Order: sequence, then C-alpha cells, then structure tokens
Amino acid sequence: MKYILCTTLIFVSSLLFGQAPRPDADRIAKHIYYLASDKMKGRGTGSKENAKAANYLIKQFKKLKLTPLGTDGYRQPFTAKVRRIVVPDSVRPAANVIGFLDNGAPYTIVIGAHYDHLGTGSQGSSRDKEPQGKIHNGADDNASGVAGMLELARCYATNDVKEPYNFLFIGFGAEELGLVGSRYFVNNPTLPLEKIHFMSNLDMIGRYNADRGVGIGGYGTSDAWPEIFKDVKGSVKFFTDRAGSGGADHASFYAKKVPVLFFHTGGHDDYHMPTDDAEKIDIPSAIGILDIHIQLIENAMKRPKLVYTEVK
Ligand SMILES: [Zn+2]
Repeated sequence: MKYILCTTLIFVSSLLFGQAPRPDADRIAKHIYYLASDKMKGRGTGSKENAKAANYLIKQFKKLKLTPLGTDGYRQPFTAKVRRIVVPDSVRPAANVIGFLDNGAPYTIVIGAHYDHLGTGSQGSSRDKEPQGKIHNGADDNASGVAGMLELARCYATNDVKEPYNFLFIGFGAEELGLVGSRYFVNNPTLPLEKIHFMSNLDMIGRYNADRGVGIGGYGTSDAWPEIFKDVKGSVKFFTDRAGSGGADHASFYAKKVPVLFFHTGGHDDYHMPTDDAEKIDIPSAIGILDIHIQLIENAMKRPKLVYTEVK
C-alpha cells in the first residue's frame, strides 16, 4: 500500500511539474547513423548530400518549434572556398542552420556544432593517402556533436520551463574548409553578439577515452567559469583547458570577445579518415558528456551574463 501510494505520488507529481527531458540514446544514435551513413557521402560542402544534412537539421528545429533565425528561414546561406587543394569547383554554396528558443529573456546561450565533413575526399584535409572517391562519413567529426546539439535543443524546447536565458542552436556549414560558417555568422550575426551569455561548441564528442577524459576548452574565457564548474560531475571524466582559440568554431566567437566552451573527446586513428564510422561512436559516454553540459548550463543560468576575459 505504502509502495503504491509512493509511486502514485511520484507519477502525479511528474505530471504536475513535468519531468525535464534527458538526452536519449536512441535519438542520438538515429541522428548519427543518418548523418554518417554512406548515403550522405560525407556531407562535403557544396554537395547535394550536404544540403540534405542541412534539411535534416531544419526538420528537427521545426519539430521543436524553434523560431527560424537565419536569413532565409532557418538557413543562413554563404559561399566557401576550397583552398587546401586545387579543384575546378573551388567556390561552393554553403549554409548555417539557425533556430532560436525564445524564452523572452534579455540574453542568449548559443550552442553550435558543424554538420559538414570531408565528402568524398575532394576538398582537402583528409589523412588518407588516396582520399579521392572514398566516403568520409564523419561520424565523430561531427555527426556526434550535431546529435548532441539537437538533443540539447530537444531537452530545452520540450521541458515546459521558461529559462532565464534564450537559446540559439546553430548547425555550422563549411567548418572543414576553415571555420567558414562560424566566421560568417559572427561577421553577420542574426542576433547581436553582445546579447550572448556564452557560446558552446560540440565538435567530436563520440570517442570518449576513459584514460584521457573529455576535454572542455574555454575555461579561461570568463572569470566566472571556475564557479560554474564547481561541483559539476557525472559518469564521464573531464578536464578543462583555458584556451578560447584553436581550430574549431568556438574560436570565431572567442575572436569577437564572447566567452566560450568547447567539448572534444580527442583525436584517434579514424580522425579525417574514411573509417570515422557510426558503429565506433560511444553513445553512453556522449550522454554523460551532455549531462555535464546540462549541469554547466544550469549553473551558468543562475548567474548574470558572463564577462569575457582574454586568455593569456
Ligand atoms: Zn574535422
């Protein structure tokens, strides 16, 4: 009787107050297996599969009822140039995909992940000796980060809570051609950069290694981070790194004096190789990383807008 009463109470209270949605393994797997399938041919910038990946993100943002904050609906089109190798079609169309979760708050948390990858080896930066014609699936780089970004979007868009901050979710295009999409966004922002609380970049969160732990960069970009990180822990181990610059999209925001975070599980033998495949992704650990990310967001939302610090 006592047990029944207790479980009934838990059930009723979860109905009344709403259970905050958690990152979900099946959804993460679905996103990664779709984006990194051979059918998507490595999502190279300018390819029709890259545009298909952008449409997939748009479909997810629409389902979550995010407000389009591109310049053409959710899309923010731009062009990107292949520079690392010589190809006849060096100038290619690309786009960021941008969705806004409007909580009516003055400031916004930006969460981004690039959805492009190396295609079939004809845009440079493959580590394969003969990359041409080989599908570079990019499961870790960066279907994993996109899946994480989409799950964070779902958690915050469907939790029936109006947080004290808004959220801007961005799928960046043309990262692999030199952070082109994120740089385009910060130079043509669809939301004023001074309204950003902080920017977080998920780039390769699928190959957790327990000896190393997940790296969280940007720790030196605001004096508030040490307080925000206090008592944060979870099922995966992490370490912090002070740097705000580097070879990923958060660097574009840091260059504009926005405090940043950068989640990264590190390099591996399949990095920028045709073998960066979906079966190799450690999904439970990716969820552990997102749990840590959520704790950091929750702590950061208890504070006023973060003040940028230059990393020395
Ligand atoms: Zn990459």
